[in-house]
Amino acid sequence: MRLVLVGPPGAGKGTQSEWIADRLSIPHLSTGEMLRIAVSEGTELGKLVGERLARGELVPDPLVVDLVDERLKQPDCVGGFLLDGFPRTVEQAKMLHAILEKRKLKLDLVLQIIVDAKVLTERLLHRGRVDDTVETIENRFWVYQTETMTLLEFYREQQILRTIDGDGTRDEIANRIRSTISNFSSTNIN
Ligand code: ADP
Repeated sequence: MRLVLVGPPGAGKGTQSEWIADRLSIPHLSTGEMLRIAVSEGTELGKLVGERLARGELVPDPLVVDLVDERLKQPDCVGGFLLDGFPRTVEQAKMLHAILEKRKLKLDLVLQIIVDAKVLTERLLHRGRVDDTVETIENRFWVYQTETMTLLEFYREQQILRTIDGDGTRDEIANRIRSTISNFSSTNIN
């Protein structure tokens, strides 16, 4: 299965992605994680993107798209994958579409996790990652509202978008995701 998880910072994408990928035996590809590793290892890419990450700004589309393109060429992605935090812009979505089309592949499902802004800020401030300061969080919310929300229209038109209520415990949200995936694709992931 080829899945995308979309949601604002703090929506629990990372947590939920871990178990979904595990159950479906597909790799969990988090662009945020890949970029943070690049920064901590001080690679060329890391040097280019470090400041943007620290400010909570998006990394330029071609850089992330290349990263994802390379990753999708790895043999473990043959049976499917779960993308977490990518695509984040319509441009990225179009480029992903082109990458997959070249390989005669399509996305199966895009899950959007919806959570109230107040709940999100609380969660993020407790998480304590270096880019989880009040200013950066605000900036990332703003970026999400302006850039990422338009992306959802793109997937709604393709009829592969499903929304998940992200308010609740991890298990409650996991159950909602589980039944959405089962209903959508008759894939049982219990
Ligand atoms: P969050 O969803 O909490 O912001 P992520 O780990 O998904 O956390 O992303 C952290 C940062 O990595 C973002 O603020 C952004 O700077 C960068 N980033 C991650 N994915 C992308 C992407 N698809 N396009 C551009 N920048 C990205």
